[in-house]
Amino acid sequence: MDLREYIRSIPDFPKPGILFRDITPLLSNPEAFGYAIDEFKHTFAPTRPTAILAAESRGFLFGAPLALALGAAFIPVRKPGKLPYKTRKFSYDLEYGSDSLEIHVDAVGQGSRVLLIDDLLATGGTIEACAKLAQEAGAEVVGCGFVVELSFLDGRKKLGNYPIKSLITYD
Ligand code: 5GP
Repeated sequence: MDLREYIRSIPDFPKPGILFRDITPLLSNPEAFGYAIDEFKHTFAPTRPTAILAAESRGFLFGAPLALALGAAFIPVRKPGKLPYKTRKFSYDLEYGSDSLEIHVDAVGQGSRVLLIDDLLATGGTIEACAKLAQEAGAEVVGCGFVVELSFLDGRKKLGNYPIKSLITYD
């Protein structure tokens, strides 16, 4: 199946000059959505993840069904102030300013094998923050999966040697 057919490209969203890759057509097609989750499942089952970690909000859409398919925990990573229990925070630089993400302190720890999932890899800042949150908790990152990768932004450089699987790549 060519998943590219289920990605809609929107010029000048959310700002002029940005070509946004819209995954909602994929979500609205059960065959395509199921195929994407299956691809991740077959790629990453051999890495034996115990937890799938995904950042809000589009990462949740793929991370949660994959966690069920792999029999792993689903761990939400959220913007500051959203998680109700005690959290650990990681701050990272953006082009202008900075951003932070949080995880519950007891979500993963030593012995956890964590798979990071997001809808899209651009500069890599978001997924790097997820990796740092997992590592600082003592967990091992076993891989990273993306539905879409914008390879011209070199996000992979931030991810070291982790196994990476992108279902669709735009050069
Ligand atoms: P990065 O941190 O790698 O620069 O950006 C990736 C994050 O921004 C992902 O969490 C993703 O949801 C969001 N993102 C950035 N650009 C796009 C896009 O064109 N389409 C979608 N669906 N998400 C995007």
